[in-house]
Amino acid sequence: MFSSTWATATIGGFIAGGSGGVGSCTWGSLRDLGNIIRLRVVTMEAEPRVVEFRGEELARVSHAYGTNGIITEVEMPLAPAYDWVEMFVAFDNFMEAVHYSEQLAKEDGILIKLANIFEAPVAHDYFQRVKPHVDPGTNLVGLMIAPHSMDGFNTFTARRPEARVIYRSDDNDWERNPGPVFEYGWNHTTLRALKVDPSITYLQVRFGHPNHIELIEQMRDALSPEVLHHLEALRENGKVIFAGLSLVKFTTEERLNEIVKIHEDAGAMVFNPHRYTLEEGGRQTVDDRQLNFKKESDPKGLLNPGKMIAWDDPDFSFDDMYAYPKLQPLTEV
Ligand SMILES: Cc1cc2nc3c(=O)[nH]c(=O)nc-3n(C[C@H](O)[C@H](O)[C@H](O)COP(=O)(O)OP(=O)(O)OC[C@H]3O[C@@H](n4cnc5c(N)ncnc54)[C@H](O)[C@@H]3O)c2cc1C
Repeated sequence: MFSSTWATATIGGFIAGGSGGVGSCTWGSLRDLGNIIRLRVVTMEAEPRVVEFRGEELARVSHAYGTNGIITEVEMPLAPAYDWVEMFVAFDNFMEAVHYSEQLAKEDGILIKLANIFEAPVAHDYFQRVKPHVDPGTNLVGLMIAPHSMDGFNTFTARRPEARVIYRSDDNDWERNPGPVFEYGWNHTTLRALKVDPSITYLQVRFGHPNHIELIEQMRDALSPEVLHHLEALRENGKVIFAGLSLVKFTTEERLNEIVKIHEDAGAMVFNPHRYTLEEGGRQTVDDRQLNFKKESDPKGLLNPGKMIAWDDPDFSFDDMYAYPKLQPLTEV
C-alpha cells in the first residue's frame, strides 16, 4: 500500500501524515494491525533518545504528523509485486459505477490494488488526457488489477454490460499516455481539479458499513453538482467501504461548514482537511497515547508547534466541534 504521492513522498512522511491509499482496497489502512511492524523514533530532548515501537505502541507516533518524534527507520510488511493492469471503465449511470466497484472489490478471487469512482463530469472536466475518450456525462472507474486476475475480471465485467473498458495500460491505442492510473486517485484527483479550476476545494468523508451505499446516494441527491463524488474503495474490518474525497465547488466558508454539517448529520464522518489541527482534522478526539508520548519526547513542545490542541490547550472541549479559537481565517493584507 502506498500514497498516491509515491513518486515524491518519503515513507516516514506517509506514516506520519498519511492514512492509506493505493492498495487500501485490499490491505486496509496504515492504522490496521500488521500494516506497520516497527518504527524507530528519535526524541526531541536535550539528550535525544532512540526508541523502538511495535504493536500497541505504534499508535503513539504513527499519524501524529511529527508532533512527538522523528521517525528514522520503519519495518513494513510487503506483498508480491505484480505488473498491475491499470484501467479506466466508463459508465453512464453513477450508482451503477458505485455498485460495480463495490462488487469488484468484494470478489475474493480477483486481486485488485485500486478501485475508485469519479462522478461525471470530473473525468471530462479535470482529467485532460482522459477527456478525448469520455463525454461530460461519463462516470469513470479507475482500477489496478493483478495480471493473473484479468480472466476473472473480464468475466466479471462481461456480466455487466453497463461497464465499458475504455483504457488498459497493457493494450490501448491512446495517443497520449495518461500515466499511472493511481495518479488520478486519492488526493491527486483534487490536485488535478485544482489545476483546471482553482475555486475547487474538497472534503474527506467516511462512508462506513453497512449503509455506505445509501449515504453516498443521499449525499449525491442533496449536494450534486456543487459537491461531486470521488470515492475510493477501502477495506475496513473485512468489509468494503468507501472513502470520499469529494470535490466541492467553493462559495463561502459558511457554505463549506454547512456541507460538512450535512454530511455529519447524515452519519458520514468528515475528516476535515480545512482544519490543520491534529484533532479537528482527524478523528475529532484527543489521542492520549500521542499526547503522553509528546510529554516525554518533546518536553519543550518544539516539534510541529500548533498542531496538537491537546498540547496547547489541555482543557479544550471538543463538544463544540471546529471551534478551536486559535484557528482563525487568514485576513487579507
Ligand atoms: C496530491 C496529494 C496526494 C496525496 N495522496 C495521499 C494518499 O493517497 N494517501 C495518504 O495517506 N496520504 C496522501 N496524501 C497526504 C500524505 O501524507 C502525503 O502524500 C505523503 O504521505 C507525505 O509524505 P512526505 O514525505 O511528502 O511528507 P511531508 O508532507 O513532508 O510530511 C507529512 C507530515 O509528516 C511529518 N513527517 C514527515 N517525515 C517525518 C518523519 N520522518 N518523522 C516524523 N514526522 C515526519 C511532517 O512534519 C508532516 O507533518 C496526499 C497529499 C497530496 C498533496
